[in-house]
Amino acid sequence: MKVGVPKEIKTHEYRVGLTPGAVREYAAAGHNVLVETNAGAGIGATDDVYRKAGATILPSSREVYASSDMIVKVKEPQPSEWVQLRENQILFTYLHLAPDPDQAKGLMKSGCTAIAYETVTDAHGGLPLLAPMSEVAGRLAIEATGAALKRYAGGRGLLIGGVPGVQPARIVVIGGGVVGTHAARMAAGLGADVTVMDRSIHRLRKLDELFEGRVRTRFSTIDAVEEEVFSADAVIGAVLVAGATAPKLVSRNMLSSMRKGSVMVDVAIDQGGCFETSRPTTHADPTYEVDGVIHYCVANMPGAVPLTSSQALNNATLPFGLALANRGFSAVLECPHLRSGLNVYRGRLTYRAVAESLGLPF
Ligand code: NAD
Repeated sequence: MKVGVPKEIKTHEYRVGLTPGAVREYAAAGHNVLVETNAGAGIGATDDVYRKAGATILPSSREVYASSDMIVKVKEPQPSEWVQLRENQILFTYLHLAPDPDQAKGLMKSGCTAIAYETVTDAHGGLPLLAPMSEVAGRLAIEATGAALKRYAGGRGLLIGGVPGVQPARIVVIGGGVVGTHAARMAAGLGADVTVMDRSIHRLRKLDELFEGRVRTRFSTIDAVEEEVFSADAVIGAVLVAGATAPKLVSRNMLSSMRKGSVMVDVAIDQGGCFETSRPTTHADPTYEVDGVIHYCVANMPGAVPLTSSQALNNATLPFGLALANRGFSAVLECPHLRSGLNVYRGRLTYRAVAESLGLPF
């Protein structure tokens, strides 16, 4: 199959659909990978590196779209990309169609077969192509916390791990899923005093086993959140209620009881945020202050580390992408997990939740 990799065109998107390592895997399986010139610039992979991995470099996205049977990307296609997609072409990328009726209509009009990373499932009921970005964001949340706690950044002037004889920072992680687990791991690794809160006893049991006493766990009630937030130096918001906007778990009132220079990192901001005072920020200007508390609410945290993120994403997408390249649309019919990823097929929406939220036929 001819597999196309256009350069990402969304603002500040530096990741790439296929890394040179992934291209080598596709080439070894007998596929012809067509990469737009400079597609790997954001991760430091030159056209020459892609050529050595077995790719053919094409001068523009137009040629890549026109010549490929399948397009592998990272971000949802932009309007200039919808019009280049066509019938019988497979699109494999993040789509997030539910809040985006224009894109949904654009993809339906193109006639392409669109498989969304975010709805592909695995045998454990998880979302394997979302998880790597949550892993990255969870770990980055603690780096962001460390930066914001610095005095010159407005923070309390606290070193996360303390030093012998001086207390470490108290970090409270609300939501013990993928983001929360990775944030807790980083925080505990740096020597912080960490508490993870969740509504799922099952998750808390798993975390208790995983961290063998190095991290406290606490069931998340309004009372418990209030108590923990009151004494925290940093709070990480990492909750997810599938298919819904994030519940507001920390109110502005609770904030006023926190010490000045404490830090709130709302990773759930891409789902509306779980602190009442959260609003989306960017890597260029990531923090702001409310009642003396520093807020970090970057909606695309993995974009800060495109090299790590592209590799993590490719590790997860590779088996699915190769299955599509090897067997074409039959792979979707044969594999229930790829079938869950199918969002648009020949002009129709094929994912019920997306169709319902857009008010379009399913
Ligand atoms: P996940 O499903 O693995 O974990 C979410 C956890 O939240 C679950 O364990 C769930 O039980 C818990 N939860 C739900 N309601 C709760 C409550 N009231 N109190 C405490 N815990 C509660 O999800 P995830 O992959 O860890 O993602 C977490 C959030 O991070 C999502 O909103 C996701 O979209 C977001 N995210 C953001 C970025 C970014 O760049 N900002 C990147 C990746 C993920």
